[in-house]
Amino acid sequence: MTYKNKHFYIENISVEKLSKKFGTPAYIYSYGNLKNNIENFKRYFKTFEPIICFSVKSNSNLKLLSIIGRFGLGADVVSKGELLKALKAKIKPEKIVFSGVGKTVEELRFAINKKIFLINAESENEIIEIEKIAKKNNKKINIGIRLNPDTDAKTLKEISTGKEENKFGLTKKKFLYLIKKYKNSNFINITCLSVHIGSQITNHIPYKRMLDVINKTINEAKYKFSYIDLGGGMGIQYKKNSNKLNYKKYSSLIKSFLKKNDVKIIFEPGRSIIGNVGYLLSKIIYIKQTKKRNFIILDSAMNDMMRPALYKAEHMILPSRLSKAKIKKKHEFVGPICETTDKFLSTIKYQKLNQNDVVIICDVGAYGMVLSSNYNLRAKPPEILVNKNLSKIITKRQKLTSII
Ligand SMILES: *Cc1c(COP(=O)(O)O)cnc(C)c1O
Repeated sequence: MTYKNKHFYIENISVEKLSKKFGTPAYIYSYGNLKNNIENFKRYFKTFEPIICFSVKSNSNLKLLSIIGRFGLGADVVSKGELLKALKAKIKPEKIVFSGVGKTVEELRFAINKKIFLINAESENEIIEIEKIAKKNNKKINIGIRLNPDTDAKTLKEISTGKEENKFGLTKKKFLYLIKKYKNSNFINITCLSVHIGSQITNHIPYKRMLDVINKTINEAKYKFSYIDLGGGMGIQYKKNSNKLNYKKYSSLIKSFLKKNDVKIIFEPGRSIIGNVGYLLSKIIYIKQTKKRNFIILDSAMNDMMRPALYKAEHMILPSRLSKAKIKKKHEFVGPICETTDKFLSTIKYQKLNQNDVVIICDVGAYGMVLSSNYNLRAKPPEILVNKNLSKIITKRQKLTSII
C-alpha cells in the first residue's frame, strides 16, 4: 500500500487529486504495476521462455492492450470483438490464440482469414466446422484441442472450469478419439493441447494434477504436439496475508514436465497481469446508520464493478486519507443500485468516514471494467492511466445522453 503522509497515492499522484481532476467513480490504472507484473511473470518462467498471450476478457482497454503488446505479449481472445480489439491494439495475428466453447462459424472464418496463431477448439462440431472452412479455402489449419482434465482448481465454483461437470473442453476419451480421427487430416493440423482449469488459483497442487493428466494424455495419444497451452488462472492477493501462488513451484513442475515432453509452453494469464493494476475510486454519497451497522453508500455500484455481486468476490476498500479514529461497528459498503447484492464489502470495524470522502476499491484491473453495464441506466465510469506524475484519460466517462 502506498500511503504518504496519510494520503493514498497511485504512483506519484494522490487519490484526492485524481478524484478532483477526473471525478468519481473512476477506474485508475498504474503503468508501473503493469510493467512490474509483466516483467515478473516473464522472470518466473524464463528458463523455458513461454509464449504469453494476455487474456483480453480480463481487460480489453485499447491503450492497456497496446502497452501489453509492446511488452511482447500476444493475446488470448474469446470473441470476434476481442480479436478485433487485439488487432486494433497492434498485436500481431501470429500472436493471437482464440479460445471459447461457442465460436460461431462466422467468428471461425474471420479468425482463419486473419491467419491467427491458434484456434483452441472445444468440441467435435467445432472441428468439423473448421475443417469445412479449411476445405473451402484449400488450406491446412493449425488448431489446439482443449482437454478437460477433470481437475478441481480449488477456487470459487463460479470460476472453476476444469471439472468434468463444467462446459469447457473435452474429456480425455473424446480428446484421444479426436486425435485419432484428425491426425492424418489434410485440412486440420493439431499442433496444441490446451487446458484452463479455472481462475484465481492460489495453490500449485491443482496445476500439478493438471500437468499429470496432460502427461498421461500425451502418452496415451502417442502424438507429437508442438505446443501445450496451460491457460491462465494464476491467483493474486485480494486480501493481506491471503494465500499466494508459489510461482517457483509451478515453474519447476513445468520444468520437470518439459523433461519428458519436448514442447513449447503457452500461457494465457489475465488476472495476474492486470488485476492489481486497477483501482476504482468512489465517493461516499451518504452514511446511513442503523442500530447494527453503518451503510456506506458509494457513488460506484455493481454496474461499475460486478465481481462482488456476481460471485461474492471481496476487494479491499481503503480510505484515501488515514485517520486514527476507529469505529467498532459493522460497515457495509454498498452502491446506489436497487439490488440487495449491490454490496461491495462488510467489515467489522473501520476508521471514521464522512460524507464526500473518497475511498479506493482495490485490485479491480481484471474483470472490472469489462463486466460493467448500464444497469439502472447509469453511465459507465472513465478509465485513467497514471504513470509517475502523469495522468491521462484512456476511456472517457460515458455520457448519459449516449445511453438515453
Ligand atoms: C479466462 C481465461 C483465461 C484467463 O484467466 P485468468 O484467471 O484471468 O488468468 C485464460 N484462458 C482461458 C481459456 C480463459 O477462459
